[in-house]
Amino acid sequence: MRTPTYHINKFLLILSSTIISLSFITSNVSAKEARYPEFGNGRIPQVLAKASEYMVSSANPYATEAGLRILAKGGSAIDAAITVQMVLNLVEPESSGIGGGAFSLYWDKANKKLTSYDGREKAPMNADGKLFQENGKNMNWWEALAGGRAVGVPGVVAMLEKTHKAYGKLPWADLFEDAITLAEDGFEISPKLGASILNKTNPALGRYEETWEYFFPDGEPIAAGTIQTNPDFAMTLRRIALLGSKGFYKGQIAIDIVDAVNEATDNPGLMTVADMANYEAIERPPVCAMYKAYKVCGMGPPTSGGMTVIQILKLLEDKNLAQYKPLSAESAHLFAQAGKLAYADRGKYMADADFVNVPVEGLIDADYLKERAKLIVDKDMGKAKAGTPPNANANWKDAKSPEQPSTTHFSIIDKEGNGFSMTSSIEMAFGSTVMVRGFLLNNQLTDFSFSEEKDGELVANRVQAGKRPRSSMSPFMVFDKDDNLMMVIGSPGGSRIINYVAKTMLGVLEWNLNIQEAISLPHFVNRNGGTDLEKDTDAAGLKEALEAKGHKVSVRDLNSGLHGIVRTREGLEGGADPRRVGKAQGK
Ligand code: GLU
Repeated sequence: MRTPTYHINKFLLILSSTIISLSFITSNVSAKEARYPEFGNGRIPQVLAKASEYMVSSANPYATEAGLRILAKGGSAIDAAITVQMVLNLVEPESSGIGGGAFSLYWDKANKKLTSYDGREKAPMNADGKLFQENGKNMNWWEALAGGRAVGVPGVVAMLEKTHKAYGKLPWADLFEDAITLAEDGFEISPKLGASILNKTNPALGRYEETWEYFFPDGEPIAAGTIQTNPDFAMTLRRIALLGSKGFYKGQIAIDIVDAVNEATDNPGLMTVADMANYEAIERPPVCAMYKAYKVCGMGPPTSGGMTVIQILKLLEDKNLAQYKPLSAESAHLFAQAGKLAYADRGKYMADADFVNVPVEGLIDADYLKERAKLIVDKDMGKAKAGTPPNANANWKDAKSPEQPSTTHFSIIDKEGNGFSMTSSIEMAFGSTVMVRGFLLNNQLTDFSFSEEKDGELVANRVQAGKRPRSSMSPFMVFDKDDNLMMVIGSPGGSRIINYVAKTMLGVLEWNLNIQEAISLPHFVNRNGGTDLEKDTDAAGLKEALEAKGHKVSVRDLNSGLHGIVRTREGLEGGADPRRVGKAQGK
Protein backbone atom coordinates (compact mmCIF):
# COMPACT_ATOMS: atom_id res chain seq x y z
CA MET A 1 0.00 0.00 0.00
CA ARG A 2 1.26 3.47 -0.76
CA THR A 3 0.99 6.02 2.00
CA PRO A 4 0.78 9.73 1.24
CA THR A 5 4.04 11.59 1.59
CA TYR A 6 4.27 13.87 4.58
CA HIS A 7 4.02 17.39 3.21
CA ILE A 8 5.25 20.25 5.26
CA ASN A 9 4.98 23.97 4.61
CA LYS A 10 7.29 26.60 5.93
CA PHE A 11 5.06 27.43 8.87
CA LEU A 12 4.81 23.80 9.93
CA LEU A 13 8.56 23.46 9.54
CA ILE A 14 9.25 26.32 11.95
CA LEU A 15 6.60 25.03 14.35
CA SER A 16 7.98 21.50 14.28
CA SER A 17 11.57 22.70 14.75
CA THR A 18 10.41 24.52 17.86
CA ILE A 19 8.66 21.40 19.10
CA ILE A 20 11.78 19.40 18.39
CA SER A 21 13.97 21.76 20.40
CA LEU A 22 11.44 21.82 23.23
CA SER A 23 11.03 18.06 23.33
CA PHE A 24 14.80 17.71 23.26
CA ILE A 25 15.12 19.99 26.27
CA THR A 26 12.38 18.12 28.20
CA SER A 27 13.80 14.74 27.29
CA ASN A 28 17.16 15.93 28.62
CA VAL A 29 15.61 16.47 32.00
CA SER A 30 14.80 12.80 32.36
CA ALA A 31 17.60 11.31 30.27
CA LYS A 32 20.26 9.63 32.37
CA GLU A 33 22.90 11.31 30.33
CA ALA A 34 22.71 14.08 27.76
CA ARG A 35 24.11 12.29 24.75
CA TYR A 36 23.89 15.10 22.28
CA PRO A 37 24.93 18.32 24.00
CA GLU A 38 24.23 21.62 22.30
CA PHE A 39 23.53 20.32 18.81
CA GLY A 40 21.46 22.69 16.77
CA ASN A 41 23.80 25.32 15.39
CA GLY A 42 25.34 22.83 12.97
CA ARG A 43 28.35 22.06 15.17
CA ILE A 44 28.72 20.49 18.57
CA PRO A 45 31.76 21.09 20.74
CA GLN A 46 34.20 18.17 20.54
CA VAL A 47 37.35 17.84 22.61
CA LEU A 48 40.34 15.64 21.91
CA ALA A 49 39.81 12.20 23.50
CA LYS A 50 42.82 10.56 25.13
CA ALA A 51 43.44 6.97 26.16
CA SER A 52 46.25 4.53 26.76
CA GLU A 53 44.76 1.13 25.83
CA TYR A 54 41.98 1.26 23.26
CA MET A 55 39.62 3.65 21.53
CA VAL A 56 36.51 3.99 19.37
CA SER A 57 35.42 7.02 17.36
CA SER A 58 32.02 6.82 15.68
CA ALA A 59 29.12 9.00 14.59
CA ASN A 60 26.93 8.25 17.60
CA PRO A 61 27.60 7.99 21.36
CA TYR A 62 25.51 4.81 21.73
CA ALA A 63 27.68 3.10 19.13
CA THR A 64 30.96 4.30 20.60
CA GLU A 65 29.94 3.21 24.10
CA ALA A 66 28.78 -0.22 22.90
CA GLY A 67 32.05 -0.71 21.02
CA LEU A 68 34.02 0.20 24.13
CA ARG A 69 32.14 -2.43 26.16
CA ILE A 70 33.28 -5.08 23.69
CA LEU A 71 36.87 -3.84 23.81
CA ALA A 72 36.77 -3.81 27.63
CA LYS A 73 35.79 -7.52 27.52
CA GLY A 74 38.91 -8.23 25.49
CA GLY A 75 37.21 -8.14 22.10
CA SER A 76 39.28 -7.40 19.01
CA ALA A 77 38.79 -4.42 16.72
CA ILE A 78 36.48 -6.44 14.45
CA ASP A 79 34.43 -7.67 17.42
CA ALA A 80 33.86 -4.07 18.49
CA ALA A 81 33.19 -3.05 14.88
CA ILE A 82 30.31 -5.51 14.52
CA THR A 83 28.67 -4.10 17.64
CA VAL A 84 29.29 -0.52 16.52
CA GLN A 85 27.77 -1.20 13.08
CA MET A 86 24.66 -2.90 14.48
CA VAL A 87 24.07 -0.08 16.96
CA LEU A 88 24.63 2.53 14.24
CA ASN A 89 22.07 0.74 12.05
CA LEU A 90 19.58 1.27 14.86
CA VAL A 91 20.43 4.78 16.06
CA GLU A 92 21.72 6.29 12.78
CA PRO A 93 19.53 4.33 10.34
CA GLU A 94 19.64 7.12 7.76
CA SER A 95 23.34 6.54 7.13
CA SER A 96 24.31 2.88 7.19
CA GLY A 97 23.30 -0.63 8.07
CA ILE A 98 22.85 -4.23 7.05
CA GLY A 99 20.77 -3.12 4.07
CA GLY A 100 23.85 -1.41 2.63
CA GLY A 101 27.53 -1.86 1.84
CA ALA A 102 30.94 -0.91 3.22
CA PHE A 103 34.69 -0.92 2.77
CA SER A 104 37.16 -1.59 5.55
CA LEU A 105 40.81 -1.95 6.44
CA TYR A 106 41.98 -4.32 9.18
CA TRP A 107 45.44 -3.98 10.72
CA ASP A 108 46.61 -7.19 12.35
CA LYS A 109 49.35 -5.93 14.59
CA ALA A 110 50.92 -9.26 15.64
CA ASN A 111 51.50 -10.25 12.03
CA LYS A 112 52.01 -6.71 10.76
CA LYS A 113 49.44 -7.46 8.09
CA LEU A 114 47.05 -4.98 6.51
CA THR A 115 43.95 -6.40 4.81
CA SER A 116 41.11 -4.63 3.07
CA TYR A 117 37.59 -5.91 2.61
CA ASP A 118 35.10 -5.03 -0.08
CA GLY A 119 31.50 -5.30 1.13
CA ARG A 120 30.17 -3.09 -1.66
CA GLU A 121 26.68 -3.70 -3.01
CA LYS A 122 26.39 -5.56 -6.31
CA ALA A 123 24.10 -5.02 -9.28
CA PRO A 124 21.64 -7.90 -9.72
CA MET A 125 22.51 -10.37 -12.50
CA ASN A 126 19.49 -9.18 -14.49
CA ALA A 127 20.74 -5.57 -14.60
CA ASP A 128 22.47 -4.02 -17.61
CA GLY A 129 23.65 -0.66 -18.91
CA LYS A 130 20.07 0.43 -19.47
CA LEU A 131 19.04 0.01 -15.82
CA PHE A 132 18.56 3.74 -15.32
CA GLN A 133 17.18 4.57 -18.74
CA GLU A 134 13.59 5.01 -19.78
CA ASN A 135 12.51 5.55 -23.39
CA GLY A 136 16.15 5.83 -24.37
CA LYS A 137 16.82 8.64 -21.88
CA ASN A 138 18.59 8.71 -18.53
CA MET A 139 16.17 8.77 -15.60
CA ASN A 140 16.07 11.73 -13.30
CA TRP A 141 18.49 10.93 -10.45
CA TRP A 142 16.05 11.95 -7.74
CA GLU A 143 13.37 9.71 -9.17
CA ALA A 144 15.72 6.77 -9.64
CA LEU A 145 16.86 6.62 -6.03
CA ALA A 146 13.53 5.60 -4.49
CA GLY A 147 12.02 2.14 -4.57
CA GLY A 148 13.63 -1.03 -5.87
CA ARG A 149 15.69 -0.33 -8.95
CA ALA A 150 18.66 1.31 -7.24
CA VAL A 151 18.94 -1.32 -4.50
CA GLY A 152 22.19 -3.27 -4.76
CA VAL A 153 22.68 -6.66 -3.09
CA PRO A 154 23.77 -5.62 0.42
CA GLY A 155 27.32 -6.43 1.55
CA VAL A 156 27.76 -5.35 5.18
CA VAL A 157 26.82 -8.63 6.89
CA ALA A 158 29.01 -10.75 4.60
CA MET A 159 31.94 -8.40 5.03
CA LEU A 160 31.73 -8.31 8.81
CA GLU A 161 31.40 -12.09 9.01
CA LYS A 162 34.41 -12.63 6.76
CA THR A 163 36.54 -10.28 8.87
CA HIS A 164 35.26 -11.86 12.09
CA LYS A 165 36.22 -15.33 10.85
CA ALA A 166 39.76 -14.05 10.31
CA TYR A 167 40.21 -11.81 13.35
CA GLY A 168 37.30 -12.20 15.78
CA LYS A 169 37.96 -13.22 19.39
CA LEU A 170 34.51 -13.09 20.98
CA PRO A 171 31.62 -15.27 19.77
CA TRP A 172 29.68 -13.76 16.82
CA ALA A 173 26.32 -13.92 18.61
CA ASP A 174 27.57 -11.89 21.60
CA LEU A 175 28.31 -8.94 19.34
CA PHE A 176 24.63 -8.30 18.61
CA GLU A 177 23.48 -8.05 22.24
CA ASP A 178 23.83 -4.30 22.69
CA ALA A 179 21.91 -3.48 19.53
CA ILE A 180 19.17 -6.00 20.37
CA THR A 181 18.75 -4.58 23.88
CA LEU A 182 18.62 -1.00 22.60
CA ALA A 183 16.15 -1.97 19.87
CA GLU A 184 13.86 -3.62 22.42
CA ASP A 185 14.23 -1.24 25.37
CA GLY A 186 14.48 1.95 23.38
CA PHE A 187 17.04 4.60 22.47
CA GLU A 188 16.90 8.35 22.16
CA ILE A 189 16.45 9.77 18.66
CA SER A 190 19.50 11.94 17.96
CA PRO A 191 19.21 15.55 16.82
CA LYS A 192 20.80 14.50 13.51
CA LEU A 193 18.21 11.80 12.85
CA GLY A 194 15.39 14.04 14.07
CA ALA A 195 16.48 16.83 11.73
CA SER A 196 16.97 14.44 8.80
CA ILE A 197 13.41 13.14 9.15
CA LEU A 198 11.93 16.57 9.68
CA ASN A 199 13.73 18.17 6.75
CA LYS A 200 12.98 15.20 4.51
CA THR A 201 16.63 15.02 3.50
CA ASN A 202 15.40 12.26 1.23
CA PRO A 203 12.28 13.45 -0.61
CA ALA A 204 10.96 9.88 -0.90
CA LEU A 205 11.02 9.29 2.86
CA GLY A 206 7.59 8.17 3.95
CA ARG A 207 6.39 6.82 0.62
CA TYR A 208 6.30 3.22 1.78
CA GLU A 209 4.15 1.86 4.54
CA GLU A 210 6.77 0.26 6.81
CA THR A 211 9.05 3.30 6.55
CA TRP A 212 6.16 5.69 7.11
CA GLU A 213 5.02 3.89 10.24
CA TYR A 214 8.51 3.79 11.71
CA PHE A 215 9.57 7.38 11.04
CA PHE A 216 6.14 9.08 11.12
CA PRO A 217 4.21 7.38 13.91
CA ASP A 218 0.78 9.02 14.25
CA GLY A 219 1.51 10.83 11.01
CA GLU A 220 4.16 13.10 12.54
CA PRO A 221 7.93 12.90 12.11
CA ILE A 222 9.61 11.38 15.19
CA ALA A 223 11.40 14.17 16.99
CA ALA A 224 14.89 14.30 18.46
CA GLY A 225 14.81 13.20 22.07
CA THR A 226 11.95 10.71 21.58
CA ILE A 227 12.60 7.25 22.95
CA GLN A 228 12.14 4.83 20.07
CA THR A 229 12.08 1.04 19.88
CA ASN A 230 12.51 -1.18 16.82
CA PRO A 231 11.32 -4.72 17.69
CA ASP A 232 11.42 -5.85 14.03
CA PHE A 233 15.09 -4.98 13.85
CA ALA A 234 15.74 -6.80 17.13
CA MET A 235 14.21 -9.94 15.57
CA THR A 236 16.31 -9.54 12.45
CA LEU A 237 19.46 -9.24 14.55
CA ARG A 238 18.55 -12.30 16.62
CA ARG A 239 18.33 -14.32 13.43
CA ILE A 240 21.69 -13.09 12.10
CA ALA A 241 23.27 -13.59 15.54
CA LEU A 242 22.05 -17.19 15.59
CA LEU A 243 22.58 -18.23 11.98
CA GLY A 244 25.41 -15.98 10.80
CA SER A 245 25.32 -14.40 7.37
CA LYS A 246 23.25 -17.24 5.92
CA GLY A 247 20.41 -16.06 8.16
CA PHE A 248 20.52 -12.86 6.10
CA TYR A 249 21.44 -13.99 2.60
CA LYS A 250 19.21 -17.09 2.59
CA GLY A 251 15.77 -17.85 3.94
CA GLN A 252 13.02 -15.47 4.97
CA ILE A 253 15.03 -12.24 5.34
CA ALA A 254 16.47 -12.67 1.83
CA ILE A 255 13.01 -13.43 0.43
CA ASP A 256 11.57 -10.34 2.12
CA ILE A 257 14.34 -8.14 0.72
CA VAL A 258 13.85 -9.48 -2.80
CA ASP A 259 10.06 -9.05 -2.55
CA ALA A 260 10.36 -5.50 -1.25
CA VAL A 261 12.76 -4.61 -4.08
CA ASN A 262 10.70 -6.17 -6.84
CA GLU A 263 7.31 -5.09 -5.58
CA ALA A 264 8.24 -1.48 -4.82
CA THR A 265 5.59 0.82 -6.22
CA ASP A 266 8.22 3.14 -7.68
CA ASN A 267 10.91 1.64 -9.85
CA PRO A 268 10.46 -2.06 -9.14
CA GLY A 269 13.86 -3.76 -9.14
CA LEU A 270 15.39 -6.88 -10.60
CA MET A 271 16.91 -8.71 -7.64
CA THR A 272 16.55 -12.48 -7.20
CA VAL A 273 17.09 -14.80 -4.25
CA ALA A 274 20.06 -16.18 -6.18
CA ASP A 275 21.61 -12.67 -6.20
CA MET A 276 21.27 -12.65 -2.42
CA ALA A 277 22.55 -16.21 -1.91
CA ASN A 278 25.56 -15.66 -4.18
CA TYR A 279 26.79 -12.39 -2.62
CA GLU A 280 30.40 -12.53 -1.46
CA ALA A 281 32.52 -9.99 0.35
CA ILE A 282 35.99 -9.85 -1.16
CA GLU A 283 39.36 -9.54 0.53
CA ARG A 284 41.46 -7.31 -1.69
CA PRO A 285 44.96 -5.87 -1.53
CA PRO A 286 44.96 -2.36 -0.06
CA VAL A 287 46.46 0.45 -2.13
CA CYS A 288 49.47 2.01 -0.42
CA ALA A 289 51.99 4.70 -1.22
CA MET A 290 54.73 6.57 0.58
CA TYR A 291 53.93 10.14 1.51
CA LYS A 292 57.26 11.52 2.74
CA ALA A 293 58.24 9.22 5.62
CA TYR A 294 54.76 7.78 6.05
CA LYS A 295 53.01 4.86 4.41
CA VAL A 296 49.41 5.76 3.61
CA CYS A 297 47.01 2.94 2.77
CA GLY A 298 43.45 2.94 1.54
CA MET A 299 40.94 0.74 -0.27
CA GLY A 300 41.35 -0.07 -3.96
CA PRO A 301 38.62 -0.46 -6.59
CA PRO A 302 35.66 -0.51 -6.73
CA THR A 303 36.13 2.59 -4.61
CA SER A 304 37.97 5.51 -6.12
CA GLY A 305 38.75 6.67 -2.57
CA GLY A 306 42.13 5.05 -1.97
CA MET A 307 43.67 6.02 -5.32
CA THR A 308 42.28 9.56 -5.39
CA VAL A 309 43.32 10.43 -1.82
CA ILE A 310 46.80 9.11 -2.57
CA GLN A 311 46.95 11.18 -5.77
CA ILE A 312 46.07 14.37 -3.88
CA LEU A 313 48.71 13.70 -1.25
CA LYS A 314 51.42 12.81 -3.78
CA LEU A 315 50.60 15.83 -5.96
CA LEU A 316 51.24 18.01 -2.90
CA GLU A 317 54.25 16.13 -1.54
CA ASP A 318 56.82 18.58 -2.91
CA LYS A 319 54.82 21.75 -2.29
CA ASN A 320 56.04 22.22 1.27
CA LEU A 321 52.55 22.81 2.64
CA ALA A 322 53.89 23.13 6.17
CA GLN A 323 55.20 26.59 5.31
CA TYR A 324 51.61 27.88 5.05
CA LYS A 325 48.93 28.12 7.69
CA PRO A 326 46.36 25.32 7.37
CA LEU A 327 43.63 27.87 6.79
CA SER A 328 45.21 30.14 4.20
CA ALA A 329 44.62 31.01 0.58
CA GLU A 330 47.92 29.28 -0.32
CA SER A 331 46.96 25.99 1.32
CA ALA A 332 43.42 26.06 -0.07
CA HIS A 333 44.71 26.94 -3.56
CA LEU A 334 47.26 24.13 -3.68
CA PHE A 335 44.81 21.64 -2.23
CA ALA A 336 42.14 22.62 -4.75
CA GLN A 337 44.57 22.26 -7.69
CA ALA A 338 45.65 18.81 -6.55
CA GLY A 339 41.96 17.93 -6.14
CA LYS A 340 41.23 19.00 -9.72
CA LEU A 341 43.96 16.81 -11.19
CA ALA A 342 43.05 13.82 -9.04
CA TYR A 343 39.30 14.04 -9.72
CA ALA A 344 39.96 14.30 -13.45
CA ASP A 345 41.72 10.92 -13.36
CA ARG A 346 39.08 9.52 -11.04
CA GLY A 347 36.30 10.43 -13.44
CA LYS A 348 37.96 8.76 -16.38
CA TYR A 349 39.66 5.65 -15.08
CA MET A 350 38.15 4.48 -11.82
CA ALA A 351 35.44 1.83 -11.55
CA ASP A 352 35.06 -1.83 -10.55
CA ALA A 353 38.38 -3.39 -11.62
CA ASP A 354 36.79 -6.84 -11.84
CA PHE A 355 34.91 -5.53 -14.90
CA VAL A 356 37.03 -2.82 -16.48
CA ASN A 357 40.75 -2.27 -16.70
CA VAL A 358 41.72 0.16 -13.93
CA PRO A 359 45.43 1.10 -14.01
CA VAL A 360 45.71 1.07 -10.21
CA GLU A 361 49.52 1.07 -10.03
CA GLY A 362 49.80 3.65 -12.81
CA LEU A 363 47.38 6.03 -11.12
CA ILE A 364 49.48 6.18 -7.96
CA ASP A 365 52.84 5.97 -9.71
CA ALA A 366 55.27 8.43 -8.13
CA ASP A 367 56.89 9.55 -11.41
CA TYR A 368 53.54 10.02 -13.13
CA LEU A 369 52.27 12.16 -10.26
CA LYS A 370 55.50 14.18 -10.13
CA GLU A 371 54.91 15.14 -13.76
CA ARG A 372 51.24 15.93 -13.10
CA ALA A 373 52.19 18.09 -10.12
CA LYS A 374 54.00 20.45 -12.53
CA LEU A 375 50.57 21.55 -13.76
CA ILE A 376 49.98 23.21 -10.39
CA VAL A 377 50.88 26.89 -10.63
CA ASP A 378 49.98 30.06 -8.79
CA LYS A 379 46.80 30.65 -10.83
CA ASP A 380 43.80 28.35 -10.93
CA MET A 381 44.18 25.79 -13.75
CA GLY A 382 40.52 25.82 -14.84
CA LYS A 383 39.02 22.43 -15.62
CA ALA A 384 41.71 19.75 -15.36
CA LYS A 385 41.98 17.04 -18.01
CA ALA A 386 42.70 13.46 -17.07
CA GLY A 387 46.31 12.42 -17.57
CA THR A 388 47.62 9.23 -19.11
CA PRO A 389 48.91 7.09 -16.29
CA PRO A 390 51.10 4.09 -17.13
CA ASN A 391 49.02 1.16 -18.49
CA ALA A 392 45.89 3.27 -18.90
CA ASN A 393 43.10 2.50 -21.30
CA ALA A 394 42.73 6.01 -22.67
CA ASN A 395 39.39 5.29 -24.33
CA TRP A 396 37.10 5.44 -21.32
CA LYS A 397 34.69 8.31 -21.23
CA ASP A 398 33.98 10.17 -18.04
CA ALA A 399 30.37 10.33 -16.94
CA LYS A 400 28.58 11.75 -13.99
CA SER A 401 27.31 9.73 -11.06
CA PRO A 402 26.36 12.22 -8.37
CA GLU A 403 26.83 10.64 -4.95
CA GLN A 404 24.83 12.21 -2.20
CA PRO A 405 26.18 12.73 1.29
CA SER A 406 24.91 10.26 3.84
CA THR A 407 27.04 7.33 5.07
CA THR A 408 29.08 6.92 8.25
CA HIS A 409 32.67 6.21 9.25
CA PHE A 410 34.11 4.69 12.40
CA SER A 411 37.65 3.99 13.58
CA ILE A 412 38.75 1.50 16.23
CA ILE A 413 42.04 0.51 17.89
CA ASP A 414 41.91 -2.43 20.32
CA LYS A 415 44.08 -3.35 23.33
CA GLU A 416 46.50 -5.36 21.21
CA GLY A 417 46.99 -2.49 18.79
CA ASN A 418 44.88 -3.97 15.95
CA GLY A 419 43.05 -1.32 13.97
CA PHE A 420 39.82 -1.16 11.98
CA SER A 421 38.72 1.60 9.64
CA MET A 422 35.25 1.20 8.13
CA THR A 423 33.12 3.45 5.96
CA SER A 424 29.60 2.13 5.68
CA SER A 425 26.72 3.40 3.58
CA ILE A 426 23.21 3.04 2.29
CA GLU A 427 24.06 5.92 -0.15
CA MET A 428 21.48 8.72 0.07
CA ALA A 429 20.15 9.55 3.55
CA PHE A 430 17.57 6.79 4.21
CA GLY A 431 18.78 4.98 1.05
CA SER A 432 15.99 3.77 -1.22
CA THR A 433 13.54 4.55 1.63
CA VAL A 434 12.35 0.94 1.41
CA MET A 435 12.37 -0.63 4.87
CA VAL A 436 12.35 -4.37 5.47
CA ARG A 437 12.19 -5.99 8.92
CA GLY A 438 13.28 -2.84 10.68
CA PHE A 439 16.19 -1.76 8.44
CA LEU A 440 16.49 0.38 5.32
CA LEU A 441 17.67 -0.82 1.92
CA ASN A 442 20.36 1.10 0.05
CA ASN A 443 20.11 3.00 -3.24
CA GLN A 444 23.79 2.44 -3.98
CA LEU A 445 23.31 1.52 -7.65
CA THR A 446 22.75 5.22 -8.36
CA ASP A 447 26.55 5.50 -7.92
CA PHE A 448 26.84 3.93 -11.39
CA SER A 449 26.89 6.19 -14.41
CA PHE A 450 23.36 6.31 -15.80
CA SER A 451 24.82 6.62 -19.33
CA GLU A 452 26.40 3.53 -20.80
CA GLU A 453 28.40 5.42 -23.36
CA LYS A 454 29.35 8.90 -24.39
CA ASP A 455 30.35 10.01 -27.91
CA GLY A 456 30.15 6.36 -29.00
CA GLU A 457 32.61 5.14 -26.38
CA LEU A 458 31.93 3.17 -23.22
CA VAL A 459 31.92 4.64 -19.74
CA ALA A 460 34.04 2.68 -17.22
CA ASN A 461 31.48 3.06 -14.43
CA ARG A 462 28.46 1.92 -16.47
CA VAL A 463 26.00 -0.60 -15.02
CA GLN A 464 26.86 -4.25 -15.72
CA ALA A 465 25.34 -7.43 -14.25
CA GLY A 466 27.05 -8.35 -10.97
CA LYS A 467 29.27 -5.22 -10.99
CA ARG A 468 29.87 -2.99 -7.97
CA PRO A 469 29.30 0.76 -8.46
CA ARG A 470 32.26 3.10 -8.13
CA SER A 471 32.47 4.62 -4.67
CA SER A 472 34.31 7.49 -3.04
CA MET A 473 34.54 5.87 0.35
CA SER A 474 38.03 6.24 1.76
CA PRO A 475 38.77 4.31 4.92
CA PHE A 476 42.47 5.03 5.51
CA MET A 477 45.37 4.09 7.73
CA VAL A 478 48.77 5.73 8.08
CA PHE A 479 51.93 3.92 9.22
CA ASP A 480 55.34 5.22 10.26
CA LYS A 481 58.55 4.01 8.64
CA ASP A 482 58.70 0.99 10.97
CA ASP A 483 55.18 -0.08 10.06
CA ASN A 484 53.62 1.10 13.30
CA LEU A 485 49.98 2.11 12.93
CA MET A 486 49.78 5.88 13.42
CA MET A 487 46.37 6.93 12.20
CA VAL A 488 42.92 5.48 11.42
CA ILE A 489 40.58 7.83 9.55
CA GLY A 490 37.64 8.12 7.16
CA SER A 491 34.48 10.12 6.49
CA PRO A 492 31.11 10.20 4.78
CA GLY A 493 30.33 13.02 2.36
CA GLY A 494 29.54 11.66 -1.10
CA SER A 495 32.35 12.33 -3.57
CA ARG A 496 33.68 15.05 -1.24
CA ILE A 497 34.81 12.25 1.11
CA ILE A 498 38.12 12.18 -0.75
CA ASN A 499 38.78 15.87 -0.03
CA TYR A 500 37.77 15.55 3.63
CA VAL A 501 40.03 12.56 4.26
CA ALA A 502 43.05 13.92 2.36
CA LYS A 503 42.79 17.29 4.09
CA THR A 504 42.50 15.75 7.56
CA MET A 505 45.55 13.59 6.93
CA LEU A 506 47.50 16.69 5.84
CA GLY A 507 46.29 18.42 9.00
CA VAL A 508 48.08 15.83 11.10
CA LEU A 509 51.05 15.05 8.85
CA GLU A 510 51.88 18.55 7.56
CA TRP A 511 50.33 21.09 9.85
CA ASN A 512 51.01 19.24 13.06
CA LEU A 513 47.42 19.49 14.27
CA ASN A 514 46.06 16.96 16.72
CA ILE A 515 43.36 14.73 15.25
CA GLN A 516 40.50 16.75 16.74
CA GLU A 517 41.93 20.01 15.38
CA ALA A 518 42.49 18.40 11.98
CA ILE A 519 38.90 17.14 11.87
CA SER A 520 37.45 20.46 13.04
CA LEU A 521 39.53 22.52 10.58
CA PRO A 522 37.04 24.34 8.31
CA HIS A 523 36.75 22.69 4.92
CA PHE A 524 37.97 23.77 1.49
CA VAL A 525 37.11 21.33 -1.26
CA ASN A 526 37.54 20.96 -5.01
CA ARG A 527 36.26 18.15 -7.24
CA ASN A 528 37.53 19.56 -10.54
CA GLY A 529 34.99 22.34 -10.62
CA GLY A 530 34.52 25.32 -8.35
CA THR A 531 36.17 25.58 -4.95
CA ASP A 532 33.76 25.07 -2.05
CA LEU A 533 34.41 26.81 1.26
CA GLU A 534 32.64 25.82 4.45
CA LYS A 535 29.85 28.18 5.39
CA ASP A 536 29.83 29.91 8.78
CA THR A 537 33.52 29.20 9.34
CA ASP A 538 36.76 31.09 8.80
CA ALA A 539 37.21 29.21 5.52
CA ALA A 540 34.59 31.52 4.00
CA GLY A 541 37.05 34.38 4.57
CA LEU A 542 39.35 32.92 1.88
CA LYS A 543 36.82 33.66 -0.87
CA GLU A 544 38.32 36.88 -2.20
CA ALA A 545 41.91 35.71 -2.17
CA LEU A 546 40.96 32.54 -4.04
CA GLU A 547 38.86 34.47 -6.54
CA ALA A 548 41.90 36.64 -7.18
CA LYS A 549 43.74 33.45 -8.15
CA GLY A 550 40.95 32.60 -10.60
CA HIS A 551 38.85 30.18 -8.52
CA LYS A 552 35.09 30.02 -8.89
CA VAL A 553 34.11 29.94 -5.23
CA SER A 554 30.93 28.83 -3.46
CA VAL A 555 30.39 29.08 0.26
CA ARG A 556 28.22 26.19 1.46
CA ASP A 557 27.56 23.56 4.09
CA LEU A 558 30.14 20.83 3.90
CA ASN A 559 28.91 17.90 5.94
CA SER A 560 31.78 15.59 6.64
CA GLY A 561 31.59 12.98 9.39
CA LEU A 562 35.27 12.39 10.09
CA HIS A 563 36.03 9.97 12.90
CA GLY A 564 39.67 9.22 13.56
CA ILE A 565 42.29 7.99 15.96
CA VAL A 566 46.00 8.87 16.09
CA ARG A 567 48.67 7.07 18.07
CA THR A 568 51.14 9.57 19.56
CA ARG A 569 54.08 9.03 21.89
CA GLU A 570 51.76 9.76 24.80
CA GLY A 571 49.07 7.27 23.77
CA LEU A 572 45.89 7.26 21.73
CA GLU A 573 44.12 10.44 20.68
CA GLY A 574 40.69 10.49 19.10
CA GLY A 575 38.58 13.03 17.28
CA ALA A 576 34.92 13.19 16.30
CA ASP A 577 33.41 15.49 13.72
CA PRO A 578 31.70 18.54 15.28
CA ARG A 579 29.44 18.64 12.21
CA ARG A 580 27.70 15.44 13.38
CA VAL A 581 26.79 14.10 16.82
CA GLY A 582 29.46 11.46 17.34
CA LYS A 583 31.92 10.65 20.05
CA ALA A 584 35.53 9.54 20.39
CA GLN A 585 36.35 7.79 23.62
CA GLY A 586 38.80 5.28 24.97
CA LYS A 587 40.44 3.82 28.02
N1 GLU B 1 27.48 6.41 -2.13
C1 GLU B 1 28.68 7.09 -1.81
C2 GLU B 1 29.89 6.25 -2.09
O1 GLU B 1 29.84 5.07 -2.05
C3 GLU B 1 28.76 7.49 -0.40
C4 GLU B 1 27.76 8.50 -0.06
C5 GLU B 1 28.16 9.33 1.12
O2 GLU B 1 29.24 9.40 1.59
O3 GLU B 1 27.31 9.97 1.61
O4 GLU B 1 30.91 6.75 -2.30
